[in-house]
Amino acid sequence: MKPNLQQYAKVTGETVIDHLLQLAEPLKGLKVVHVNSTRMGGGVAEILNKLVPLMRDLGIDAHWEVIEGDDTFFQCTKSFHNGLQGNVVEIPKSTLKAYEATNEKNAEKLCPILQDADIVFIHDPQPAPLLHLCSNRRGKWVWRCHIDVSRPYRPVWKYLRNFVTDYDASIFSLADFAQLMPHPQYLIAPSIDPLSDKNLELGEEELNAVYSRFGIDPERPLVVQVSRFDRFKDPVGVIHAYRLARKFVPDLQLVLAGGEATDDPEAKIVLNDVYDAANDDKDITILLLPSDAHRTINALQRAADVVIQKSIKEGFGLTVTEALWKGKPVIGGNVGGIQLQIVNHHTGFLVDTPEGAALRIRYLFYNREQLAIMGEKAHRFVLENFLITRHLREYLTLMLDILEGSRERIDLK
Ligand code: UDP
Repeated sequence: MKPNLQQYAKVTGETVIDHLLQLAEPLKGLKVVHVNSTRMGGGVAEILNKLVPLMRDLGIDAHWEVIEGDDTFFQCTKSFHNGLQGNVVEIPKSTLKAYEATNEKNAEKLCPILQDADIVFIHDPQPAPLLHLCSNRRGKWVWRCHIDVSRPYRPVWKYLRNFVTDYDASIFSLADFAQLMPHPQYLIAPSIDPLSDKNLELGEEELNAVYSRFGIDPERPLVVQVSRFDRFKDPVGVIHAYRLARKFVPDLQLVLAGGEATDDPEAKIVLNDVYDAANDDKDITILLLPSDAHRTINALQRAADVVIQKSIKEGFGLTVTEALWKGKPVIGGNVGGIQLQIVNHHTGFLVDTPEGAALRIRYLFYNREQLAIMGEKAHRFVLENFLITRHLREYLTLMLDILEGSRERIDLK
């Protein structure tokens, strides 16, 4: 189902929707084109799937184009991705040439569409060279970078920088993710969709089904972490914290839910370590879920008393947003976007060690009234800051600013 603006009024209230309508008024009829490299899979496609129809609902002539490439192209951009996140990667010159040639080929088809757009959003490095290839462009071009490029492998950034510095502006998810560039930079944090299967309200029956399916006792305290089995998510640290906390909360249960076994050898090693650490403890449930198990994850997050996300390195941490939205205090690693979402002692606790996490678990189960108090604050915090409607509002504000920023005053109706 395509999102429809009015459906969100039930969640956010009419004022938020009125505000969006008002902001969009001067942007009506504007041609806006987003370009990325995939229509399905991954966070960028997920967000464009929502944002583009919502922009159209607001009267903006919004479009979404996808560039095409072969295996060499995507291997190259995967190396960029790793290099931008700091890994040492060697990319042969011929592969870089293939990257540029693929963009040239895409430009033949896309430039006629892009050059008469009022605003073009180019997402991530894959289509970045299109700017220089569309020489007759008339609108503003914005590079939307979803990756943390603050500590890149220098040769990769040195190469890619040439394609992105000439944009009119760039957008990063967090200040910590950005690189200095000679144009205005905007910060737009990610968001969740309250109406998606992952986040919508669930009935009692669906929760009960999850309790019985996974053998969880609804009468006993439950801590849940939902994460890929990845070292940076520290699932073994979570088990360590659970064991320490069990000394004080003897009937505590733990669920670690992650993706099905993949071909990723690193994930297999982490999963083996997790099984070793769990040591057949019947109160630890390790779940390998299919990638479309959104309602199951939703139910597990709702079934939890406390959600944990003990990452030692993190991008934004959407699992934290999802849990806070469900009114759960989150005990999260003191890193990346988790720091933006956990207001220490209010929406949850920031921790640096398994011992710290265990102390906070103990605190919450010894002061159960705090579960509800902090949970309420957590939900409100997401309502005000991390829903798709805020994401849309910031895009609209950015568009107004970039088109009319030279004027001293922008009149909204
Ligand atoms: N997720 C999922 N299945 C899993 C693990 C995670 O659907 O087995 C979802 C999770 O609910 C969240 C996203 O994948 O929406 C993970 O985003 P996050 O920013 O927390 O971490 P990332 O995996 O991108 O590092």
